[in-house]
Amino acid sequence: MEQKILVVEDSRPFRRAIESELRQAGFLPVFAETIAEAEQVLDQDTNFLCAVLDYCLPDGQDGEIIDVCLSVDIKVIVLTAMMDEMTREKVLAKTVIDYIPKDSPSCISAIIPILHRLAKNSSHKVLLVDDSITARKYTRSLLERQYLNVIEAKNGDHALEVMQQDKDISLVITDYAMPERDGVSLVKELRKTYSLDKLAVIGLSGSDEASLTAKFLKAGANDFLTKPFNQEEFYCRLHSTLNILDSERRLYHLANQDYLTQTWNRRYFFDHPMSKNHQSPRCLALIDIDNFKAVNDNFGHHIGDMILIELATILKNYFPDALVSRFGGEEFCILYGNSPHIFEQRLEAMKNEIADSELTILSNKIQYTVSTGVVAAEGNIHDLLRRADNCLYKAKSQGRNCIIKEQLA
Ligand code: GH3
Ligand code: MG
Ligand code: MG
Repeated sequence: MEQKILVVEDSRPFRRAIESELRQAGFLPVFAETIAEAEQVLDQDTNFLCAVLDYCLPDGQDGEIIDVCLSVDIKVIVLTAMMDEMTREKVLAKTVIDYIPKDSPSCISAIIPILHRLAKNSSHKVLLVDDSITARKYTRSLLERQYLNVIEAKNGDHALEVMQQDKDISLVITDYAMPERDGVSLVKELRKTYSLDKLAVIGLSGSDEASLTAKFLKAGANDFLTKPFNQEEFYCRLHSTLNILDSERRLYHLANQDYLTQTWNRRYFFDHPMSKNHQSPRCLALIDIDNFKAVNDNFGHHIGDMILIELATILKNYFPDALVSRFGGEEFCILYGNSPHIFEQRLEAMKNEIADSELTILSNKIQYTVSTGVVAAEGNIHDLLRRADNCLYKAKSQGRNCIIKEQLA
């Protein structure tokens, strides 16, 4: 659903320009021209991602609209033609997200990346590491203002414990000087486990030791800030760090996931430690849709695609604890590290559920079945795949919609 942005602006050309930029970027603008109008809007609805406010309005020339929005907990970006230092300080002293000089119509484009960032921030969890409660409180308020989820740790060792327990943390912001493991040592330890596409780190320090920036960066931090920091600089660095993290993640997914079904691809499969670990016994299943060519021929390729997506969802639901990948057109592979008995039970239940369901896709009623080849053994992954493929071949020749398990000699 489109996220709504409240825009309070009395200049019509500006409203027009903002409207087109926001709509193009996928946001839904709601307009008011005065404080009075904005209050009417807010009486009805306060569910806005953010408000973009003109500092000087006909019924309040001195930023009064900012307090109106803040009082109902709306995040605020201020647009202003008043470039003087005093206004800037005054605006930043309020809890606004950003302050954009209204020096040309192109300043509107500067809003869009901030809004995109805000929209994505709630998917990030930040671990804030500092021994000072006051410092943590201040930085937490800056982060929460940007919809980031925040948890705290009081030193480096405590941070490592929290990281162990919470797998959703995507950014660590850490102080340097702390008892029980300092920030640089924490970053070094974190980078042993978390690569750049999994975790971003920003170092902080009140110390004026010149080499500290280099120490943090060399240990693997993405960026560094000296305390006390300026709010604007903090937000700029935070945004660029999170933008890079999001791009890294996106690249990782593009490189390792199948575009259509969002299951892992062959590259990810063969790189995975479970594929490479020849010693431990594993269960492997190759699952292939029966007569899929006929489904495409009868209903069209588009419907075929939707069935592939549907099957991928079923596979992930039945095997949340396994490595599920798309191996070829309509062939999926499941690699599972636990009991063969449970594996086969789940495969059987899944095969039956698929055969017994009638899908309605774009008002077409469709049924399909799958054939499965299974092997449970130790050994080279290529060998296991070859053996599972032989079983799949037998399943097809025995009439399809069945599971053939490798029989041990
Ligand atoms: P069998 O039961 O022996 O497996 O028969 P089949 O028709 O499923 O197998 P065949 O290998 O003859 O055909 C596979 C079909 O899968 C042909 C191809 O067009 C289709 N296919 C492969 N990838 C995709 C895809 O991404 N989308 C769609 N819609 N179809 C695909
Ligand atoms: Mg400290
Ligand atoms: Mg097939």
